[in-house]
Amino acid sequence: MHIDAGLVRTSGQHGEPEGRTPRLKPSTNPGLQVAGLQEHATAPSRLMEKKRKIDSECRKFKDQWNIQYFVIESSNKALCLICNESIAVLKEYNMKRHYETKHSQNYSKYTGIVRTEKFEALKRGLKSQQS
Ligand SMILES: [Zn+2]
Repeated sequence: MHIDAGLVRTSGQHGEPEGRTPRLKPSTNPGLQVAGLQEHATAPSRLMEKKRKIDSECRKFKDQWNIQYFVIESSNKALCLICNESIAVLKEYNMKRHYETKHSQNYSKYTGIVRTEKFEALKRGLKSQQS
């Protein structure tokens, strides 16, 4: 049969292993060159200033997030009024992600003045809980 023939041939492939001596390449490289390190020693200070500015701008709570994501600022964090969870990083990305993954399904229907009223109601509810 054809199948048997195939099997027989497969066993034949396990022949003697060829020489296993690893072929080590002779080290012809002229060593590791220390190239160009000196040129980058002075970091441009302008770049660092810019980075810090952007960072502080990003970590500031924006009032529009109140209505947009139902969050309020609370002790340098953002507090979600819907689930009372705090969002440690004051970045829009984090607010948006929290709101969109957890609440947008239920709260995206509130728009305009209704949304503002909903936000105020949630905020009042939070205050009455705390007192
Ligand atoms: Zn929430």
